Amino acid sequence: MGAVGASWMPAWRMILRSGEVVEGTRPRLFNSLGREMQQLAPASSGHVGIYSCGMTVYGDPHLGNLRPYVFADTLRRMLEFKGVTVTSVVNITDVGHAVGDGDLGEDKVEVTARAQNQSVWDVTKKYTEAFFTDLSNLNVLPHSHNPRASEYVPQMIEFAQVLERKGYTYQLDSGLYFDTSRMPDYGRLALRRPGSADTDVHRLEAVAGKRSPADFAVWRAERGEQKRLVHWESPWGPGVPGWHLECSVMSMSLLGDHFDIHTGGVDHREIHHVNEIAQSEAYLGDGRDWVPMWLHNEFVLLGSNKIAKSSGRVPILRDLMNAGHHPMVYRYFLLNAHYRSQLDFTEAGLRSAAAGYRRLLGRVAQLGPLPEAAGLDVVRGRLRSAEALAALAAIDDAITEDLNTPKVIAELNAVLRLDSLEDGEAALLASAAERLLGLKLGVLSADEVSTATNIAMPPDYIEGLIAARATARAGGDWGEADRIRNQLTEIGVRLVDTPQGTRWEPMPIDD
Ligand code: AMP
Ligand code: ZN
Repeated sequence: MGAVGASWMPAWRMILRSGEVVEGTRPRLFNSLGREMQQLAPASSGHVGIYSCGMTVYGDPHLGNLRPYVFADTLRRMLEFKGVTVTSVVNITDVGHAVGDGDLGEDKVEVTARAQNQSVWDVTKKYTEAFFTDLSNLNVLPHSHNPRASEYVPQMIEFAQVLERKGYTYQLDSGLYFDTSRMPDYGRLALRRPGSADTDVHRLEAVAGKRSPADFAVWRAERGEQKRLVHWESPWGPGVPGWHLECSVMSMSLLGDHFDIHTGGVDHREIHHVNEIAQSEAYLGDGRDWVPMWLHNEFVLLGSNKIAKSSGRVPILRDLMNAGHHPMVYRYFLLNAHYRSQLDFTEAGLRSAAAGYRRLLGRVAQLGPLPEAAGLDVVRGRLRSAEALAALAAIDDAITEDLNTPKVIAELNAVLRLDSLEDGEAALLASAAERLLGLKLGVLSADEVSTATNIAMPPDYIEGLIAARATARAGGDWGEADRIRNQLTEIGVRLVDTPQGTRWEPMPIDD
């Protein structure tokens, strides 16, 4: 093992800003700030704080919306695998996000509440739950914190008051605005020069009295003609916080003034994150980058357009499940592309992901039960053969170099084809890849290989279908009952009707 170990071990050393050297961590990530690959240098030893802009909870998350969270989860898994402790924060935007991402007009959530004739809180509760259900189905690890914007309004008002005291704001009828001309490097993240005409900024609606089109509301005042369903009192009149302000305040409240990584979809890079940076650096005024590293995932596309709720009916995870796909198939589909590549969502692409995932499961199943997932150091310590150590190095290098998940999957498949490994080494490597990718690979034991247990749907989803079938039968709707039975068959579940009720069991795998 000597030669192999010696060639790749030094690459795992990371020097923290504090000067401390940590073995086993050397992530290089593509920083949108500067648009270049950079070595991650956490501010504190062995710990990384990550903030990811969360969902605006006014509808079911669509397939595109889920990509940022699978990507942030992969980032976190990579760091934890390497022995770094992660604090992960994903917020819930339940107030303040205006239609069109601008400063005027109704909140997205309020539009839905009016349309569905429900309270704002009923709407946000329903779609927050939908969001968490999807994350759990996609095997996204629970975050350290999920702050709701509506629970941080007093802190947001205090933050805006500090900006006002420091002279960074001006007040209009429509709210309190941040004066972007006060920040000499405003727009750096978006590669925008101060004062330059910019299509992203000009996309925003014109607001009477704004000194520059780029200025943005930190407080959106309620005006006479426009009654909000929800508002708070503030020094600038009743209203709601600006959407950008929300993320600055929630992230700093939970991760401290400065933290290591901020993530989001690439649409946030041009305005939302630019504005978060401007107001946070104005607030802190310490001459340092507020957050040194910004990572952005590219879009999931549908017919060459970004999937967007505003474009009407959009595919959601449940649609895939109803079509017979395990949610892990969607995770596999996402991870088979690099997070910075646009990804076309097509039926054919999904079917091919399903086939690839199934093949992977079949191969992993040959290994017998996988050992409990361990970190990099432990796995490295247990491997003996040069081939296995080289395979681990290849997997580690791939994930370390800007989260190259397609390469990790390819390396895993290569491991599963090797026949020179010592006993148990392939299983160790598979469990390492499983932990890194968050794909469920090892639920099967060797003698269960002929059953579809591990690609069956989450049990509560199956129970839900069975209950719906029972209701259809009780109501004499035999057509619907048959349809549900067929749907269950599609996903590999066999129903057994007994006098005590309906049992279900996985069907044998046919390929
Ligand atoms: P929103 O609720 O609109 O703030 O979106 C939640 C997250 O989904 C943000 O990080 C967006 O950047 C991201 N997002 C929205 N649409 C897509 C898409 N089609 N593909 C990938 N990410 C997206
Ligand atoms: Zn945000």
